Amino acid sequence: MDVQTTFLDRLFQSGLLIDTGVDGLYGRSGQFEDVIAAFERLIDKFGGADGAEAMRFPPGMNRAFFEKSGYMKSFPQLAGTVHSFCGSELDHINLLQCMEVGDDWTKDQQATDIVLTPAACYPLYPTIARRGKLPMSGGLFDLQSYCFRHEPSQDPARQQLFRMREYICMGTEQHVTDFRQSWMDRGIEMMKAVGLDVTIDVANDPFFGRAGKMLANNQRDQNLKFELLIPITSVAKPTACMSFNYHQDAFGAKWDLYLEDGSVAHTACVGFGLERIALALFHHHGLEVKHWPSKVRQALWG
Ligand code: ATP
Ligand code: ZN
Repeated sequence: MDVQTTFLDRLFQSGLLIDTGVDGLYGRSGQFEDVIAAFERLIDKFGGADGAEAMRFPPGMNRAFFEKSGYMKSFPQLAGTVHSFCGSELDHINLLQCMEVGDDWTKDQQATDIVLTPAACYPLYPTIARRGKLPMSGGLFDLQSYCFRHEPSQDPARQQLFRMREYICMGTEQHVTDFRQSWMDRGIEMMKAVGLDVTIDVANDPFFGRAGKMLANNQRDQNLKFELLIPITSVAKPTACMSFNYHQDAFGAKWDLYLEDGSVAHTACVGFGLERIALALFHHHGLEVKHWPSKVRQALWG
């Protein structure tokens, strides 16, 4: 049995995660949720004074916006679409017969207008574009959403439905790169406060296919993505628990995000992987929260 399975098994045994029979799809106990809630309050403590506008979207987004985002060009392997039955009574009878004999009953399901949200910030860009030009002082937004990625795994830190808390900044190049740097500093400070050792490293997104290799290299060469890494299931390959992304003016140009002087807005986002952070805490400090170091409990529960 490998190390990953062992940690997942311990999480199931302790009840912190609840097995659903699907890799990467888990229930969470009240204790697990309490850790996430406490960590989110810590995020608020560090970021609250910046005055970000909070918004919460459901874990599904408008399919038209998803199509426009280009997600299927870069990450077709991760996307999840919502399909429904839209047939007649006869189609219904056929469907039930299919199910009865164990045939594929899903093949005639029709695409709905909803796809599963791949990253918390995706529904934001078209929403802000609709408002008109951004002030020269820019925009700052606070989002949190369950996100879907089709990457089944027995590594508990790689789930198919997980929560991402994000701050998204729009403005001039200087403004958004300063924003990203300040969160890299805060990220290190926050993790230190909860007793976790971290490193920050340049990273790339898992772009699909051979053409994707070039995109990934390009992203690295330009330092567009950094990750805050914490060892969870492997010391050799620590897990990305936060990411710091600079999109240059690519999202601004795609979504028509303009500043008052007519220039295209630059954007950056900072994402906290909430389950991964909770798992890092449980892995590092133990599965019993009451035995965590008092300094850590103090930082989380005051
Ligand atoms: P990885 O390289 O590990 O696949 P990523 O670079 O694709 O992660 P991002 O797209 O930057 O991740 O997502 C933002 C944050 O969401 C990550 O820093 C991570 O903490 C969290 N995250 C990403 N994928 C998962 C997942 N499958 N399960 C749990 N958390 C995740
Ligand atoms: Zn984002």
